[in-house]
Amino acid sequence: MQICTSFFRAPGRLLVAMAFFTSCVAWSSNPIIDEAFTADPAALVDGDTVYLYTGHDVAPNNDKFFEMHDWLAYSSRDMKTWQSHGPILKATDFKWAKGDAWASHMIKHRGRYYFFVTVRHNEQKPGFAIGLAVADSPLGPFKDALGHALINNEMTQHTRNDWDDIDPAVFIDSDDQAYLFFGNLVPKMVKLSKDLRSLAGPIEVLDLPRFTEASWLHKHKEWYYLSYACDFPEKICYSRSKSIQGPWQFEGILNEVAGNSETNHQAIIEFKGNSYFIYHNGVLPPVNGQPSGGRFRRSVAIERLYYLPDGRMQPVMMTSAGVQ
Ligand code: CA
Repeated sequence: MQICTSFFRAPGRLLVAMAFFTSCVAWSSNPIIDEAFTADPAALVDGDTVYLYTGHDVAPNNDKFFEMHDWLAYSSRDMKTWQSHGPILKATDFKWAKGDAWASHMIKHRGRYYFFVTVRHNEQKPGFAIGLAVADSPLGPFKDALGHALINNEMTQHTRNDWDDIDPAVFIDSDDQAYLFFGNLVPKMVKLSKDLRSLAGPIEVLDLPRFTEASWLHKHKEWYYLSYACDFPEKICYSRSKSIQGPWQFEGILNEVAGNSETNHQAIIEFKGNSYFIYHNGVLPPVNGQPSGGRFRRSVAIERLYYLPDGRMQPVMMTSAGVQ
């Protein structure tokens, strides 16, 4: 299915009228998806395709808390038109999990697809945990790779919160060493084994100013960039280093508070020569019989990302036009 209902949200009567007579293929605006509420984007570039994995906000009343049961997948070959592939996994597909399909991260390794996810563990290890599912295709079918959590709440004791081990982000360096970044309030990093299925070292605490959550590690030229949600309501900040071991040099705010959402969560990719900043906001108007967006009903948006000559990332301006 092609997602092109953004026509009807085009500002101004003239644009709307024009949209009816224009092919939907080349048009895209933020938020990029309106068939469902999508949050916590994680993007994977695989050949000539970008796969976008998102959480799935339900929150019928938008006044209590997040309600998220499964993860959705989308794909694009141009960053403008997106194909929906529906839910690819539920939190309760992990037999040890109670629910809460929170932020995820997909990575390709040796021809297979590894989906690291945040879920709420059952009463055996209460609190939020990180699980791992694996598939032979980027769209699944995904199955629990371990039969247990990769990270559970008992494994870190830096805060009293039972959600301090959320938001996995995996990066495999050029020497084939894989790293898992994660955490809420306290940023953490741990080496993974060669098969990504176990930890290969101690969990280290990183020094990242104003850290809240949503780590994302990417490399561009000679720099490693560690971006994350900072403060609350959340902005996106980042630090950079020429070594993945740090020390991390704080570079400030990359993106301000996203409209109508006190959380944010970014994915940063390079695709066909351009860089992109993928995030969420809460501004989706009521469409398709759905209620409007909000703090617990978020939607993924995309902007171009540019680097300055000294390697810093240029602050991202959020737009409704998106990637044109
Ligand atoms: Ca913990």
